[in-house]
Amino acid sequence: MTDMTVSSPAVPRKRRSNWQLLMANRLAAAGLFLFGTIVVLAVLAPVLPLPNPDITDQPNRLLPPLAGGHLLGTDHLGRDILSRLIWGTQVSLIVGICATALAALFGSLIGLVAGYARGATDSILMRLVDMLMAFPYILLAIAIVAALGPGLLNALYAIAIVNIPFFARNIRGVTISIRNREFVDAARLSGKGHVAILFSEVLPNVLPVIVITMSTTVGWMILETAGLSFLGLGAQPPTSDLGSMLGQARAQLFTAPHASIIPGVMIFILVMSINLLGDGVRDVLDPRLRSGALNRPLAVTRVDRAAPPPATMANAPVLVVDNLCTGFSDGGHVAPAVRSVSFQLDRGQCLGLIGESGSGKSVTALSLMGLVASPPGVITGGGVYIDGADVLAAREQTLIGLRGNKVSYVFQDPLTTLHPLYRVGEQIAEAVTAHAAVGRRAAMARAVELMETVGIRDAAERARAYPHELSGGQRQRIGIAMALANDPDIIVADEPTTALDVTVQKRILDLLQDLRRDRGLALLLITHDFGVVAQVCDRVAVMKDGAIVEQGDTRDVLRAPRHDYTKRLIACVPEMGEGATFLDRVRPLFAEGRA
Ligand code: ADP
Ligand code: MG
Repeated sequence: MTDMTVSSPAVPRKRRSNWQLLMANRLAAAGLFLFGTIVVLAVLAPVLPLPNPDITDQPNRLLPPLAGGHLLGTDHLGRDILSRLIWGTQVSLIVGICATALAALFGSLIGLVAGYARGATDSILMRLVDMLMAFPYILLAIAIVAALGPGLLNALYAIAIVNIPFFARNIRGVTISIRNREFVDAARLSGKGHVAILFSEVLPNVLPVIVITMSTTVGWMILETAGLSFLGLGAQPPTSDLGSMLGQARAQLFTAPHASIIPGVMIFILVMSINLLGDGVRDVLDPRLRSGALNRPLAVTRVDRAAPPPATMANAPVLVVDNLCTGFSDGGHVAPAVRSVSFQLDRGQCLGLIGESGSGKSVTALSLMGLVASPPGVITGGGVYIDGADVLAAREQTLIGLRGNKVSYVFQDPLTTLHPLYRVGEQIAEAVTAHAAVGRRAAMARAVELMETVGIRDAAERARAYPHELSGGQRQRIGIAMALANDPDIIVADEPTTALDVTVQKRILDLLQDLRRDRGLALLLITHDFGVVAQVCDRVAVMKDGAIVEQGDTRDVLRAPRHDYTKRLIACVPEMGEGATFLDRVRPLFAEGRA
């Protein structure tokens, strides 16, 4: 009997524009709003009805806010604080932004040239940069201003110079990783010169990093400029920026606190808003941050089900997956990857989950134990019942306790799942001690025993090997031994043989088969190869675009596939002695898919 599940048509994934993403980040939007308001006020300073910021009025000195027609009061020379604040903000902004632009220009140029040229050029440039970095930079800035003479322009140069190393180092690192890429080689082969390659191939790839570094350092540079002005090394009277306003009001800190508090608060708001905005810009421009791939994932995938299914199921087999839906969120919109997937698995059974790459097999497998990285993963519906209880509704600790204990995983590439710096025996022992309170010696003995179970010869000796000292097949056996460490009821094997050659694949599949028979394991075997399914699975579920399109007994499905996609997958298994006619037979089946 084969039963059909309706496949939903593929929903095109909506990509949100950078602007929408930035606005979705509330802090960044608030930062943008504040910063925008401040910039507009500063730009409009000449046309706003403000008194001249430099006109002194001794009788009216140190007026408190709202007194004598001065909204924010007056300073120690009787000058209008509001007017000075807006003009001063304009100066601070211009100096900070120009310093950032200068530092970015020269720093990026140094980084690009050093990273692209390597060799002696790189060494010389980087040692110069190191020399700059060897001094505490505010001291360096003070020294530069002392040498050039106090003044706003010199403060700007000083701040730009001390920030060059940040850009140079960042950009050099990115350039080095890009210069060895194939598209740069291709450009070189096409006869482009170094300068052309640097500006047309490398620079566009480095640009986002430059923008990110700029957006995250501009606030800092405004603060540094204010620091120099505060010390009297930046803006010289009568010109004032926020730092010099603060510096001049210092003497009246107790008699007229408003004169120093107001520019202080302004500096705080300005730098804060720029930093919030800068962080938002960085998140939008860095695709890994956008998807949350660099965040530490939650211990358990986020579960956000509109209608949770019943928490328990009577007389259920060991594993029931009921209408499971999993998607990936990019901030607000959730793109579905697994849609209403249902299947069951009982003791001693093997279910094959088959589908082409990207059809959602791994996401389904990881969802069972809440292992999909979150963010961005989110389980949006359905239930996963183990021994009749919905684990997605269980407490986090319960779910973590089931992992590797009741349900364990074997992954595709054992070289990436094994820790390269620990001996394999220790890694298996660690899997044992994660759930059982046994001593080190007992755990090691158990590890050796498990290695024997999975057919590794001289187990006691091989237990002391590092992963790179084993063959691919042996490493996969270690992966299986780790999965068996706590006598699980269910093993989820995600393409366990894809990285192996055919003979080793056969042996690993036989091993899984034997373990299933001897220990009554339930096996969920994920693959893209119908040959593997035919060899080991009692039942098969065919996945396409995140949904199961057909499932049933392997023999029935093989004999009479209902879905067109299943027919094509079956046709992809080459037959003995078929030779060159295989491609001729398979090609027409996929012709319509490519249109
Ligand atoms: P496979 O069947 O090859 O194992 P997967 O289950 O890994 O496929 O992936 C299913 C779908 O989920 C793919 O379309 C993939 O683009 C999407 N996907 C997987 N991981 C992520 C992620 N971290 N962020 C966004 N989309 C993802
Ligand atoms: Mg996969």
